[in-house]
Amino acid sequence: MQTKRIETQIEKVKAELLKIEDMRPGSLSRQYSSCQKPGCKCVDPVKPQKHGPFYQLSYSHLGKSTTRFVRPQFVPEVRKQLANYKKFKRLTEKWVALALELAKLKMEEARSAAPKQVRTSSS
Ligand SMILES: [Zn+2]
Repeated sequence: MQTKRIETQIEKVKAELLKIEDMRPGSLSRQYSSCQKPGCKCVDPVKPQKHGPFYQLSYSHLGKSTTRFVRPQFVPEVRKQLANYKKFKRLTEKWVALALELAKLKMEEARSAAPKQVRTSSS
């Protein structure tokens, strides 16, 4: 039966979701800067070396965008959290797609199983 198959797939998605640990939305970018102080290596006329890298995390939550710096030592952990969030999103989208399909199938089944007078009388 097709509904059973979809239900099994949904159970698998749920099991995968439970395995997700630390997560956070957003994206990480790497930046370099120049302080422009005379004599600094960043404004060296021959071989300028900018300051950095600086890691910036940007994300939006509940309609509010936030950008914050991330210390280099936390970058690997943040990358892991970002990857987990992507996985979370992918799984929930899959769940919704399966749920839509399941709802449609169940309605079709109910429609073909129910005799006509049941659908026209409301009491
Ligand atoms: Zn500088």
